[in-house]
Amino acid sequence: MSNRQNSESSAPAAASGDTKNGTRTLHAMSIDVEDYFHVAALAKVIRPDQWGSLPSRVEQNTERLLALFERNDVKATFFVLGWVAEKYPQLVRKIAAGGHEVASHGYSHQLIYSQTPDVFREETVRSKALLEDIIGAEVSGYRAASYSITHKSLWALDILAECGFTWDSSIFPVRHDNYGIPGSPRAPYTIETEKGHLLREFPLTTAKIGGLSIPAAGGGYFRQFPYPVFRYLFNNASGGGSRPQMFYLHPWEIDPDQPRYNNASWFSRFRHYTNLDKCEHRLERLMQDFRFGTVSQSYDAYKPESSQPSTRLTTQQMVGLA
Ligand SMILES: [Zn+2]
Repeated sequence: MSNRQNSESSAPAAASGDTKNGTRTLHAMSIDVEDYFHVAALAKVIRPDQWGSLPSRVEQNTERLLALFERNDVKATFFVLGWVAEKYPQLVRKIAAGGHEVASHGYSHQLIYSQTPDVFREETVRSKALLEDIIGAEVSGYRAASYSITHKSLWALDILAECGFTWDSSIFPVRHDNYGIPGSPRAPYTIETEKGHLLREFPLTTAKIGGLSIPAAGGGYFRQFPYPVFRYLFNNASGGGSRPQMFYLHPWEIDPDQPRYNNASWFSRFRHYTNLDKCEHRLERLMQDFRFGTVSQSYDAYKPESSQPSTRLTTQQMVGLA
């Protein structure tokens, strides 16, 4: 049973700056559909060959998120891990039937900069075809495991374009121990790959406070910061609502009853287990404070290529930023 608490203040929304020409900006709501044991923070204590024998909770947690989105009349983008899609095709069909956008989270949840281009291409083709066969429609969006498109793995963007993806949401414009391209754009933009393909990029949200880039995209940051702080940072990142931002969460982040791995490091346990019991309630508040849609809906409402012609970067320019 859930032991969720609603102990946080339920004061009315204060994100009134979130307007653009009188219309509330449409931000992107995204879910990375994976189980608690796929997470990089637990990779040192759970091996991939153990995944199949662990109690899975991804289906029930994703269904709770689907119900939550329905209650709040929000459509989201679900980046589904191929490993999950293969085991739970009915879940993928249910996501699509709910009017949500289905996108790819790769197949094996391994870091791209640790893979060879050949391995990456093979699993990208496989996971895209798997999702397309299940939903009977084209899948055009991609998110890398643990945001692992960095200056070391920009080659992956060419492979994504060659596999038929038209947009990506894997680049975090921050300095972090495992991911990020510091200095890359903080609003949607277009990347011209090394081979000349164009790929739309919807980066992960960062706020700028006193010259510092502070991640404010969701996940652990959403659970660790007090909610009013997160709301302030998200609104700051959007320039008070002048540009759409990306929010993300995982199904396991609303599941305080998942198995605990007390043999993981203190820091990994902090990243993974903090405030799981508060997360679902916070997500509901966030959806009341800001307007959300799928990644494609949010991008299309913004149209950076027509409104801001300077938001195109080549991968060479991005290497220079890192
Ligand atoms: Zn993931």
